[in-house]
Amino acid sequence: AIPLVVAINTSLAARNGMLVRDRIAMEEARNLDAIIFDKTGTLTEGEHGVVDMATVDSVNEDDAFALAAAVESDSEHMIARAICEAADERDLTSLDTSGFEAIKGRGVRASVDGDEVYVGGPNMLTQLDSEVPDSLQRFADEASQNAQTVVHLVREGELIAAFAMADVIREESYQVVDSLHKLGIEVAMLTGDSQDVADAVADELGIDTVFAEVLPEDKDKKVQELHDQGKLVGMVGDGVNDAPALTRADVGIAIGSGTDVAVQSADVILVQNNPMDVVRLVKLSKASYRKMQ
Ligand code: ADP
Ligand code: MG
Repeated sequence: AIPLVVAINTSLAARNGMLVRDRIAMEEARNLDAIIFDKTGTLTEGEHGVVDMATVDSVNEDDAFALAAAVESDSEHMIARAICEAADERDLTSLDTSGFEAIKGRGVRASVDGDEVYVGGPNMLTQLDSEVPDSLQRFADEASQNAQTVVHLVREGELIAAFAMADVIREESYQVVDSLHKLGIEVAMLTGDSQDVADAVADELGIDTVFAEVLPEDKDKKVQELHDQGKLVGMVGDGVNDAPALTRADVGIAIGSGTDVAVQSADVILVQNNPMDVVRLVKLSKASYRKMQ
């Protein structure tokens, strides 16, 4: 009788927009102790807009925008799209760019008019070991405390501007955290974004555990950390960066349009890009289990 129940279970899942790639994981979902969510694009809309900027005295805003947009023009990242859009609105002349390179989980670099230029987050600043002028430090601190993501512009080793980007928490995320708590499940959040931004989002949603400033290659280690506490762990993500963590989790859940890599690493795919489907998945798994008794 068990295969029949499992078959019913997967077709019921499919009707609810859940594609089950691994049935064992689907059965395990009922026992999850903790679920880790990727922040950007999963708990938040992932559609950043530039809300503020600051430059050092020697650089004007238009020049900073033109430079940042030149480097970001070849990037697919949501941050890149927002910077290019904001620059477009300013009608700036485009600059000569070559040697574009994406630095995973950190940012991007390129040569612009012969200068080496980087655009990226806190992880990138750490890597470049750039000195942060007081005025830009104050700007970054204030933006971070308002849950805004700060992106830095570095030219020839010198930090010359910072952009504050606002993302929006998805409406469904509040209910997701609340419902999982009611099911006795710990809710964790994993992000490459700064600690301040992560803490602000976590506070707002009532998230229990925060892993911030995590490099893509370290994301699966955070899954392992919860494993090592004896927990059965679910992971929800959409990006290429999330793939190893999805594989490492007991139940890997790819959400939304998800990248191919994320989809191939997941046990369950939520096609509707609604984080509430994570709750439905756990409930469906629990309901199926009761039937099997
Ligand atoms: P997340 O873990 O939130 O999904 P990513 O791993 O894609 O984020 O990126 C981590 C951090 O690296 C971002 O928060 C940002 O600071 C920086 N970053 C990545 N790509 C870019 C880019 N194209 N432009 C600027 N910053 C970037
Ligand atoms: Mg992501």
